[in-house]
Amino acid sequence: MFHSVAKFELRHDGAQINSCRQQDPGVGVDNTNVGRSLQNTLKSPVVFEGVGLHTGAPVRMTIRPASAGQGIWFKRTDIALGNALVPALWDVVDRSPLCTRLVNGAGVSVSTVEHVMAALAGCGVHNALIEIDGPEVPILDGSAAPFVRGIMTRGLRRLEAPVLAYQVMKAVSVEKDGARAALAPADRLIIDFTIDFADAAIGRQSKALDMRNGSFARELCDSRTFCRQADVEAMHRNGLALGGTLSNAVVVDGAEVLSPGGFRHKDEAVRHKMLDALGDLALAGGPILGRYRGERAGHALTNTLLRDLFATPGAVRPVLCDAATAERLPGQGLVLSEVPKVA
Ligand SMILES: [Zn+2]
Repeated sequence: MFHSVAKFELRHDGAQINSCRQQDPGVGVDNTNVGRSLQNTLKSPVVFEGVGLHTGAPVRMTIRPASAGQGIWFKRTDIALGNALVPALWDVVDRSPLCTRLVNGAGVSVSTVEHVMAALAGCGVHNALIEIDGPEVPILDGSAAPFVRGIMTRGLRRLEAPVLAYQVMKAVSVEKDGARAALAPADRLIIDFTIDFADAAIGRQSKALDMRNGSFARELCDSRTFCRQADVEAMHRNGLALGGTLSNAVVVDGAEVLSPGGFRHKDEAVRHKMLDALGDLALAGGPILGRYRGERAGHALTNTLLRDLFATPGAVRPVLCDAATAERLPGQGLVLSEVPKVA
């Protein structure tokens, strides 16, 4: 069945949008290798209902198809007046420590976008309009698997426009409070992460993964958000994690895993950090070609890294992907049967 592509006026900080990185490559784009690498959107809308991890409030979210060049946008359907559109871009991120929160020029926000952004990037979706009737994306099971399954069940529609990617040309790195995040040149996206927790249930974990060809869906998307019992109590005192339960987050206390069933993977925690990193890097506005390395890094630090990448002369260049590069993008070649059946 044919579904029409969403049409909407894109405005960013009060100006006609042109910062949507898939829209107009503009000056400085290396387009010498343009081949048959096309953007995607969903074939039809998909609905998700649940509660926000931090607000605890019920929320309904619909990911709709969008046309080529529009990129990923959120639209707050509960906001009747003013600008309810929020672009999924790095330069509107409010650097809060616990989740990734986007805020448009009118002060309208959407929180905890990282898991759905990872799912879209990991499935190779470049354009979508995400309608949401509240301020926070539903947490569902705490992983990105339900989003991936929903998107892949609908299937993707190819659009007649080449994929614009961001090629890292020069290494950049940022550090804060013993955490580090870095990007270095590579011809594909590689995510390499290390975490080190005092709790024996997590401890020190490292993993690196070439994100090409659906590896996100196969290896990372079902890994759930996690936290320490002591942090849960502190967050509750601060009015956070009100929607958190033992079924949408893995809670650990020392050597003990409190959530029923334990971990889905022995190293589920570092896999989830890689999932978060993919979602946060997707806010570049297009796929990144480079090697990301995170050491105890969180959402705010990865966003600072993106800001540094785009602020450093010569550190990144937009490229229109040729067919060979497209083969190395996340999501390329992914099929529904590869998506884990945990959701
Ligand atoms: Zn997460």
